[in-house]
Parts: sequence; C-alpha cells; structure tokens
Amino acid sequence: MQTTTRTEELIALEDRYGAHNYHPLPVVLEKGEGVFVWDVEGKKYYDFLSAYSAVNQGHCHPHLVKTMSEQIQRLTLTSRAFYNAELGKFDKYMSETFGYDKVLPMNSGAEAVETALKLCRKWGHEVKGVKETEGKIIVCDQNFHGRTTTIISFSSDPDAKDGYGPYTPGFETIPYNDIPALEAALQSDDVIGFMVEPIQGEAGVVVPDNDYLPKAAELCRKHNALFIADEVQTGIARTGSLLAVWGVGEEGEQLKPDVLILGKALSGGMYPVSAVLADDPVMLTIQPGQHGSTFGGNPVAAQVAIAALEVVKNENLAENAKELGELFRSEMQRIIDQSDLVTLVRGKGLLNAIVINDSPDSKTAWNICVRLSENGLLAKPTHGNIIRFAPPLVMTKEQLLDCVSIIEKTLSEF
Ligand SMILES: *Cc1c(COP(=O)(O)O)cnc(C)c1O
Repeated sequence: MQTTTRTEELIALEDRYGAHNYHPLPVVLEKGEGVFVWDVEGKKYYDFLSAYSAVNQGHCHPHLVKTMSEQIQRLTLTSRAFYNAELGKFDKYMSETFGYDKVLPMNSGAEAVETALKLCRKWGHEVKGVKETEGKIIVCDQNFHGRTTTIISFSSDPDAKDGYGPYTPGFETIPYNDIPALEAALQSDDVIGFMVEPIQGEAGVVVPDNDYLPKAAELCRKHNALFIADEVQTGIARTGSLLAVWGVGEEGEQLKPDVLILGKALSGGMYPVSAVLADDPVMLTIQPGQHGSTFGGNPVAAQVAIAALEVVKNENLAENAKELGELFRSEMQRIIDQSDLVTLVRGKGLLNAIVINDSPDSKTAWNICVRLSENGLLAKPTHGNIIRFAPPLVMTKEQLLDCVSIIEKTLSEF
C-alpha cells in the first residue's frame, strides 16, 4: 500500500483544485506564533518572509487576536452606506500617526495603489488642469505595485504583464534611482504624478541612493506633479523607521509624499487592510459616490489596524528592525567574505536580500531555499538568483543569530 504524508496530500489538493498562479515551497503551514510557524507534520520554522512583510508584528500577535476576536463578535460589516463606530477613530489615528489631513481605507495593496492613481488623475484634471484625455503618471522600471489590469499595464515583468493586454494608457516608465531621467520626464506639462517604491522589494530589495527620494520629491514639487510613495511593503517599521521615507534625507527632516500608500502590515497580517493618505487639496477631489469599496473601512479593519500600529509603537519595532538589520547585514557580509556562493547583501532595516553567484535562470536560489526550509528557516527567492530575508520585526537578537547560523550552515552545504 502506498503511503502519503499529510504534506503531500494537502499539496495535491491545492494542485488539483486550485489555480496554478503560485509556485510555493513544498511546506504546508498550519500554525504560527511570533517569529515561528509550524507545518502539518509538526516541524517548526523561523518565518523569514513574514508574508511579504505583512506580518511585521509576528504571527497571531495576542493584542491583535484579542482586538479582532472582540470586534467580530460585536459588528463586522455595515458597508459605507452608514457610519460605523470604529472608522472615525481609525481615520484620526492614521491622520495623526502619519501626518495627513485625511485617509481613504481600502483592503488590498493593489486597491490602495489604484486609489492613489485615481486620486492623482482626479487632481491632475481638476486642480492642475490637465485635459482628461491626457495626464501621465511616471513610474519606475522593475516596479511592483500589484496585480490589477491597470497596474500590470506599467509593469516591466513579462510574467506579470504578458497576455493581459490591451493595457491602460497614461503611464511612462523611467529607470529607478535616476534623478536626471525623472527631471527629463517631468519637463512635459501633462505629467501629473510620480509613483515610486522607497525600496523596490519584489525587484530584489533594490535600495536607491539616500538622496534619491528627497530629490525626487523636490522635483515633483517644482513641476507641480504629485509625489506618490508606495509603502505597502516598506512601511510599518520594516526598514527601521515607521515609514521608509522617514529614514532618508536630512537628519530630523521627515519626507512627506503628497500621496502615501499603505497595506500589508497595516493589519499585522490579520485581515486585508490598506489605506491611502493625502491632504485635503488632493483627497477632497474625490466626492461621494466617486470611489469606494464594500469592505473598505469596516469596523474590524479599523480596529485591527489601530491595534497593529499600537504594537509597532509599544514594542519599538522600528528601532528593533534598525538594530537587527545592521547586525544581520554585517553577519551576511562576514559569510560572503568567506564564500563564493553569495556575492552581495543589501537592504535596510529587516528588509534584506542576498544575491547568489549563479545565472538568474539557474535553480540555485530555489534549491538553497528548499534546503533552508529543511534546516528550519523559510525564505523565498525573488527574481532569479536573489533571496529575500524579511523576518517578523518582533525577533530577538538571540533568534536572529540563531537564524544566521542556519543560513551559514545551509550555504556551506552548497
Ligand atoms: C505587495 C505589494 C503591493 C500589492 O499588495 P496586495 O495586497 O498584494 O494587493 C503593492 N505595492 C507593493 C510595493 C507591494 O509590495
């Protein structure tokens, strides 16, 4: 009689009945707590992906579990046809935390990006005065902003884009971290905005020059175009400050994008919550009935998001990410100096990646990730031979050093 493990059974189930739009590592998870997850065989792992930085607060954080459990027994969804008792509190908390007049709640990151693009277009036509048939938004090569038809229209990744045309017009792509290219693109009067990731996460944790974002913001101001920061992955303390844009530029000066996009860890991984923030001259261009979402701003989302931000503040997760990130990169550098397998470590805070010394088409990074999982650490390759390392920010120094030794041991097996 043939025996199959629960892992094999559950993978077969997904494979048979689920669409094949992902290629997961062969690990089936059923439990999580803090920096750890457990698979269905009872094996324990360090989570070094944090659901693409959605679980910065750690898995099943008790404050979030309690907040959400209480709220779902009281009221879950009203739609925005009526007011609910929690949304105003969330709006105020977000406004004060991030320093904007107003917030527009959505659910997924892609929806928040779409919202920001719509806001930018509305502002461009109604305030800047660009004709509705015109109006261009500048984006960067190698961007990742989500999966909707409009967003993939300006993707440079063939997997994300090919076969999904016709594409939404109104976007112009320039190289990332290239101020002269931005300045040249902004010369055209019909440019209404520039949307950028403070660090390109999906592209392989590409960190721009420290003065790139402040200079880009300044150029946008000069040319009357909105500076839009997609902090869905970099935000909520991941890179060592609450927002990645707060960690660049002159000491003591907080860079303020015209439009800020948040998602992922805004809910600590409990529930899809995303948001767009802007000041009144931009936000109030959208009037009642002109944009919305059935679930956006529901009471559970509002409560969970406040709690998720409270955890970040109360547990000093930005500071922890900053300190552990420096330690992690110096430990990776020590390993790199002794090996030919890894050529580079880069990143900021606890959003880091190593570059494997092999062709982008080779399976080396994938094989390393499979071996890492066998050794008790979960990470995923991104774009060819790059492995992203992004553990929950509640990690301790001892745990991080334990992870470093797992990575070192694993690399030595290749
Ligand atoms: C993940 C991500 C998105 C999309 O978020 P979803 O919740 O998956 O729709 C958008 N922008 C960036 C930078 C992201 O990392």
